Amino acid sequence: MRGRGLYKSADELRLMVAPGLLTAAALDAVRSAIRSGVSTSELDAVAERVIRTGGGVPNFAKEPGYRHTLCVSVNEEVVHGVPGERVLEPGDLVSVDAGAEVAGWNGDSAFTVVVPDPSRPELVAARQALADATEAGLWAGIAALAGARHLNEVGAEIADAVERHDEYGILEDYVGHGIGRSMHEEPPVFNYPVRHRGAAVKPGLVVAIEPMVTAGGIETSVLDDGWTVVTDDGSDAAHWEHSVAVHRDGIWVLTARDGGAQRLAPFGVVPVPIP
Ligand code: MG
Ligand code: MG
Repeated sequence: MRGRGLYKSADELRLMVAPGLLTAAALDAVRSAIRSGVSTSELDAVAERVIRTGGGVPNFAKEPGYRHTLCVSVNEEVVHGVPGERVLEPGDLVSVDAGAEVAGWNGDSAFTVVVPDPSRPELVAARQALADATEAGLWAGIAALAGARHLNEVGAEIADAVERHDEYGILEDYVGHGIGRSMHEEPPVFNYPVRHRGAAVKPGLVVAIEPMVTAGGIETSVLDDGWTVVTDDGSDAAHWEHSVAVHRDGIWVLTARDGGAQRLAPFGVVPVPIP
């Protein structure tokens, strides 16, 4: 079915630019609002305002049983943290995931930051290193996509980048995904090496690449709220994500304002706007 398959038409790819940029704008606003003393529900309101003002709809709120714009996952929470009364504290490791739908098309992106804590420089440095390694894994995966023939090449590069740090673990219970008219579509995008080649990487493929990395073990559980995924060993976790389009002339990171140019430059990859 047109638009529901793995590969979008050039027209469909163009429709994914707006939701990608609106998702980026929402996350930028949240990042500016993160500080000690802010509640996760306040951050949620910031993102919702940006998305609705920009003519979009928070797509997470379309998930059955979920009514928020963001997932905010703190410290040992990996993903799917539910915004609420929790107040961020100095030194917290905060992962924020958001998605905007515009005219029926979706964006999905996430970042991780550490709330400053001058009294605990070692804790802050350790958490920042985890966030940085996860982000490095994401960009290595995106760079791999630019030259890949099949999707399994992406996961191999993510793992290669992250596992330079012996102590870190890459979650296997949760993976990336195709994105388009639905936020979650085929194909799965693994963050680690897999034996099957996966989908062919060719024009029209749009994927959300999203490594989830812990500072310890990779076993996780879901809290009683039915959503929040936490590490079983209580180790910290980070999560970075971008939605990326493959098109006739190259790749373009839909949820980065510059298409990923700055972060892809070290890999020798030059993203190309969708024609
Ligand atoms: Mg996401
Ligand atoms: Mg996703």
